[in-house]
Amino acid sequence: MSQSVAGMSESTATALLSKGLNHDKAAPSGPHETTKVAAQCHCGAVAFSVSLPVASLPLRGYLCHCSICRHAQGTYARMGVVLPPGVKPDWAGGLMPSNKMASYEIPGRPTPQFFCSTCGSTIGGHGADGQWSMPVSLFDSSFWEFRVHGFPKSVPDGGLLGWLLPGAAASAGAEEIIWYSPNHMDSFVAAEPERAADGTERLRAECHCGGVSFTIPRPSQAVLDDTYLRDYVSPSDPTKWKAFLDLCRDCGRLSGANVVPWMLVPRVVLEPPVPADLGREEQHQQQRPYGTLKTYKSSAPNTRGFCGVCGATVFLATKHREPTAAQAVLNVAMGLLRAPEGVKAEDWVTWRAGKPAWAEDAKGYDEEFTVGLVEGHRRWGVEKYGGGVRV
Ligand SMILES: [Zn+2]
Ligand SMILES: [Zn+2]
Ligand SMILES: [Zn+2]
Repeated sequence: MSQSVAGMSESTATALLSKGLNHDKAAPSGPHETTKVAAQCHCGAVAFSVSLPVASLPLRGYLCHCSICRHAQGTYARMGVVLPPGVKPDWAGGLMPSNKMASYEIPGRPTPQFFCSTCGSTIGGHGADGQWSMPVSLFDSSFWEFRVHGFPKSVPDGGLLGWLLPGAAASAGAEEIIWYSPNHMDSFVAAEPERAADGTERLRAECHCGGVSFTIPRPSQAVLDDTYLRDYVSPSDPTKWKAFLDLCRDCGRLSGANVVPWMLVPRVVLEPPVPADLGREEQHQQQRPYGTLKTYKSSAPNTRGFCGVCGATVFLATKHREPTAAQAVLNVAMGLLRAPEGVKAEDWVTWRAGKPAWAEDAKGYDEEFTVGLVEGHRRWGVEKYGGGVRV
């Protein structure tokens, strides 16, 4: 991290921020060529397009690593783009579909964040100045390069940033990267370790609004004795689970980030227990810890769970990992975890390093980011685990 806003003069910091907000990418006066890019949430209820001045492309995209983005999305960063001044979403049907979107107010921010109330896709929001900031994953084709990293100090173990840097940032040239690190929010607040009544350790997962909150235990002897479930225990350490990065477009559109970190955990070990198929909303309302969980069927085998208040991605339940109801294995969104050691929860999981799911699909969508992440993750894995661990 060669540069941070701390220690810079205020005018330099303001100039950097202005670049990050794509202020220099506004449409030129007079006639100019534009290109139109379509975008929509996963279920299609929220759809729009933007007309971008061709001369302004590519725009600078950003990754915000702050804890608000992590806990309100379930990912390791929000990955978005600030539309240049004057560029507004052209909503399908003409008006912003407010009745199809839920809004979430974040304390200290002047305007809310929106997400689709049916599928949970993050839609983003606009600042007090009216400039929209949206997840890039909503768009059908790429028109950005990630050049801005917000709040890097809030991920002391590197999080997504540590995996990306050797690849993407290096290929971009470090001098082109803007580090946005303006205030006290840029720090990691370590969670207290948690224990169950019997003294055994627990790992908490909680969305930003706190509406969904549950804990995960270490693998038990019963799990290790189960011929199906034992495959989901780390092969190198029987006290840990497995984790992987998912680059599929469905996860991207739904979560607000091009990559989702998932931890695989048997459904029956979660405390409190979550019902089969993630349950129905009426059930959750009676059972407070999952009180705000909403579900959405994203494809025939896959059901998603997201928080209906803050929009965070929480679960993916897939029929592919459910030989019987008692053996269902859920994906838990790792941006929600409160591991004391850091966002990568390395005391709790072994990572499938260098082998993100759906990387080939993602290359066709954003090659620079995908190649950088896969390579950075692979190198990190070799350093961390040596060549021997196959997860
Ligand atoms: Zn939707
Ligand atoms: Zn943030
Ligand atoms: Zn929530």
